[in-house]
Amino acid sequence: DKNVFYKVDIVVIGAGQAGLSAAYNLQREGIKPGKGFVVLDDEFSPGGAWQHRWDSLTLSNVNGINDLPGMAFSDAVNTKETELQANIAIPKYYEQYEKAFGLPIIRPIRVTDVTEQNGRFIIRTNGIQFSARGLINATGTWKTPHCPKYPGWEKFKGKQLHTGEYKNAEEFIGKHVIVVGGGISAIQLLGEISAVTQTTWVARRSPDFRKYEFSPEIGREAVALVEKRVREGLPPESVVSVTGLPITPAIEGMLNKGVLDRKPMFKEIIETGVRWEDGTTLDADVIFWNTGFRHSLNHLAPLKLLNDKNGIQISGKLATQVAKDPRIHLTGYGPSASTIGANRAGRIAAIELIEFLKL
Ligand code: FAD
Repeated sequence: DKNVFYKVDIVVIGAGQAGLSAAYNLQREGIKPGKGFVVLDDEFSPGGAWQHRWDSLTLSNVNGINDLPGMAFSDAVNTKETELQANIAIPKYYEQYEKAFGLPIIRPIRVTDVTEQNGRFIIRTNGIQFSARGLINATGTWKTPHCPKYPGWEKFKGKQLHTGEYKNAEEFIGKHVIVVGGGISAIQLLGEISAVTQTTWVARRSPDFRKYEFSPEIGREAVALVEKRVREGLPPESVVSVTGLPITPAIEGMLNKGVLDRKPMFKEIIETGVRWEDGTTLDADVIFWNTGFRHSLNHLAPLKLLNDKNGIQISGKLATQVAKDPRIHLTGYGPSASTIGANRAGRIAAIELIEFLKL
């Protein structure tokens, strides 16, 4: 029945790193699972976006996954296997975490929209409906791949896919793959695919390849820049756009092999491939869009949080609180879109929200 609401104090949307940290901290601060708070997640099983990452992403080549509060990764998963596949190991960790702390996670349930009625939030889903006083949104980005639509999009006879659909390079053997994009995923996957088949790299601009080792210090500075943006109400930018990409041995190898010979963005897509402004064409079997993700916030649209800069102004100690409505926190958003950021954001969001709602 769409008019029956399950009443709680706080609803957390999303059970990735950010949602789990928020849930752990709400419970720790004395908010009761069930009547006090619930977590709604649209996946069938634990793992957040990690369960969908490609197979070659292992714990030795990711940027570093921070332990969730209260339970170490190594207590849940045998870390002696050095090449642990991220899309298996992290879901396993989250599953044990959810069980160990008895977190009230409801799944699969998809939040379709959130509105306000008589001072409470009405959270509509494809299942039961909820009514809450506060909201911690932790929906990540994986569900909103960004893919610019170039003219001729529908004419292409080959295959087009986005980062979110990639499984492994083997499926492309014998094919010519155009890899589009200039971020970490584009470069990493270009490296992987160019090792087994012919590739062409196309990007609007090259990432800023820099000779430095990525350090926590550089990471902090980049996060601070993104934090400044959201506090000013601007849309967050990705961290790579501010740090550039360090030249790793893998990138060095790609530079030497000529894999990173960048072509500018094409003008249109044709039946057999792509065509540039000057009329040059290139035949290809696959166009692989590594053009990023956007924060998944469509369900919050009825709350009209966006300003005229197309951003959401954020305040609070760690930049998680929506300035226009302090009963809403966005975690895993902008400066907290990393596992360490999500941990901290979950904690501060829980504390600030409990204080604001006087729970
Ligand atoms: P997610 O893990 O995406 O969790 C969000 C959850 O909300 C999901 O289960 C989703 O299905 C659910 N959801 C979404 N919309 C709804 C809805 N409307 N209703 C109900 N549920 C919904 N960070 C690092 O710190 N280290 C790394 O090495 C690293 N590597 C990365 C590699 C890749 C390829 C990518 C894309 C990102 C990487 N990141 C890394 C960033 C990483 O995404 C974050 O660190 C973190 O895991 C995100 O957690 P999250 O909880 O915000 O989002």
